[in-house]
Amino acid sequence: MAQERSFYELLGVERTATDADIKRAFRKLAQQWHPDVNSEPEAHQRFTEINEAYQVLSDPQKRQQYDMFGRAGVSGAGGAGGGAQDPFGQAGFGGFSDIFDAFFGGAMGGQQRRARAQAGSDLRYDLRITFAEAVLGTEKEIEFPVLGRCDPCQGTGAKQGSTPVQCAQCQGRGEIRQVRQTMLGQMVNVTACPRCRGEGRTVDSPCEACRGEGRTERNRSLRVSIPAGIDEGHQVRLTNEGEVGPRNGPPGSLYVAVHIAEHPHLTREGTELYYEAEISIAQATLGTKIAVPMVEGEPIEVEIKPGTQPGTEIKLRGKGVPHLRRQSARGDMHVIATVVVPSKLSKKQRELLEQFAHESGETVSGAGLREKLGL
Ligand SMILES: [Zn+2]
Ligand SMILES: [Zn+2]
Repeated sequence: MAQERSFYELLGVERTATDADIKRAFRKLAQQWHPDVNSEPEAHQRFTEINEAYQVLSDPQKRQQYDMFGRAGVSGAGGAGGGAQDPFGQAGFGGFSDIFDAFFGGAMGGQQRRARAQAGSDLRYDLRITFAEAVLGTEKEIEFPVLGRCDPCQGTGAKQGSTPVQCAQCQGRGEIRQVRQTMLGQMVNVTACPRCRGEGRTVDSPCEACRGEGRTERNRSLRVSIPAGIDEGHQVRLTNEGEVGPRNGPPGSLYVAVHIAEHPHLTREGTELYYEAEISIAQATLGTKIAVPMVEGEPIEVEIKPGTQPGTEIKLRGKGVPHLRRQSARGDMHVIATVVVPSKLSKKQRELLEQFAHESGETVSGAGLREKLGL
């Protein structure tokens, strides 16, 4: 007998392959060799082999045993029992994983296909927080209506004293398979069973509290922790806190979307804070000290140097917003000097400014000038 190919060889990956590499390789091969899409006689055998390899290599513990002891270390752990697992996970493989499960349930050991309960919906909660709460982080109690598991029937949807029964239309498989011969070969069309909606079971006498849905609406309150540095439009995801699915279907997620109120003096861009400090011509020219408001605590005194030009930026390092993923690091506070030109002057101020202009040899409009020209 020829030397058996290793599981790594079967999937065409290195021994150092990551979980993601293995998954990717398996998907590719499964699409190529699945008997429903490949009519070559060896397809069944090839598919069984790559599935067996995948069942072992995708499980860290089994993979370790296989690396140490070879097939002997994992005998019985391979594809034969694989019908209960969904090798594609939940994401992004839809129809094909249905076909896959169906194939395995049917061909590998007469095991029943795992009928699929419908998942509950994700929920979105809009949460308003203050500017400071976003910068510093906070905890909020939120309350919202949600479809939760029905207590009287414990989510089954069946009246007390009765239980859900196997669906008569699909014999509990949750799906209807239609095989058609076409010019391109055999096509298998798998759809969810319309009678049980893919769940494999039906309820003859429905629970009165939930009308057979297995879920009822209630108010739930939750404490949500908002990390420091969160920004407008960010969402905090709370897994499994969404609606439960009908008849004990898995729950969705709750997304808490954060909306941040404006600050009276500060603006923010990511981790950077900006403060526009209005100073007068005299202050810009002669220098001064100003108070810069902080998100937390007392304002900080900042020196404006003599001769500061409009738009000059003074950076206060580390006085900005914490990085969301690296809380020890913070952005900076940028103080922008905005020089305000006075639009109204007292008589005295006007005289002094005219003197100032005269001293600089400048021509200015104004009362003094009109006097000089004899108007
Ligand atoms: Zn059915
Ligand atoms: Zn109920």
